[in-house]
Amino acid sequence: MRVANTTAPRTIEFVERPLPAVQRGTALVRVEHVTLCGTDFHIWEGEYLNPFPIVQGHEIVGTVASIHSDHPAFQIGSRVAVSPVRTCGKCHACSVGRSNVCRDVSVLGCYEDGAFAEFIAVPISALHSVPDTVPSTLAPLSEPASIALQAVQRGRPQAGELALVIGCGPIGLIATLALREAGVDVVAADTVLSRTDTAREFGAASTVVIDVSAPFPTGSEIASAIGDSERPVTLIIEATGSPAAFIGAVEIAAPTARVVAVGISDREVTIPMRAIPLKELDILGSRNSLNLIDEGLRLIERNPEHFAALVTHRFAFEEIEQALSVMRTDPAAVRKVLISFEGVNVSHGHSG
Ligand SMILES: [Zn+2]
Ligand SMILES: [Zn+2]
Repeated sequence: MRVANTTAPRTIEFVERPLPAVQRGTALVRVEHVTLCGTDFHIWEGEYLNPFPIVQGHEIVGTVASIHSDHPAFQIGSRVAVSPVRTCGKCHACSVGRSNVCRDVSVLGCYEDGAFAEFIAVPISALHSVPDTVPSTLAPLSEPASIALQAVQRGRPQAGELALVIGCGPIGLIATLALREAGVDVVAADTVLSRTDTAREFGAASTVVIDVSAPFPTGSEIASAIGDSERPVTLIIEATGSPAAFIGAVEIAAPTARVVAVGISDREVTIPMRAIPLKELDILGSRNSLNLIDEGLRLIERNPEHFAALVTHRFAFEEIEQALSVMRTDPAAVRKVLISFEGVNVSHGHSG
């Protein structure tokens, strides 16, 4: 099988490898499509914690090519999304049902070989049936959808409350969509006007363009965006990893608010400690997802046109280097990049 091996920053070598062995409890999946996210770009740029060489690719859909199990849900040819998260099953987090933050958590395509390959062998437990109504070209987006849904669930959204979503990239957009479905009024913020415009299409009631050279908007400025400056902002999803955004989130959070940090950064933030006890804020981290790929597939099923609008670029497997490069050369225009293994000109209808 053909594999795209990232051997060093900005260097991919296409190599032939034998098909992976299918052991008991595992399946061989023929990869159909992979989507790219910022993590793929950081790995490619050499700015991530991964080892080299590595086969990237963690947002995955394919069909079962062979299976060593009598699991009733999957047969040869079944369309499946693949969860890339691997956990130990033994540590404290795993034992309390929070394996998404397993001590030894690994992610295919980030810390071990993933799906920039014609085939990938995975445990049956990583397979998720793709509903017939979800096209294969959208199904890999169930992985980033699961990340956004984890952040939303961590925030315990209440119908009728006002939320601020900071960052209108794919995670912020999908979180906005899910919050809207939960009956939450969302103000979406970003530094780029065109990205906030997209957030309106994903259900944001209003938007705010952040000027990085000015102070972060106040809570009443955020609430004014939907016409009621008195309305408390009680849920904030920080999906940028920007220290200024996190500090702003803690400042504008109303008493009782939940602040969910899903954007990841090594940069430091300084906040007045008093903000947390005085307003009884819940500061919540969100990482990976706790078994939310199926939920992500159902979100796509309900909102296919939104997910189709996320895919801005499409390349063939052989063009992976070009696909990663476009994330550097044209970042403002890139939402999701789709890599197709059977050529970009072939139409991939959904099967079944
Ligand atoms: Zn991703
Ligand atoms: Zn564990």
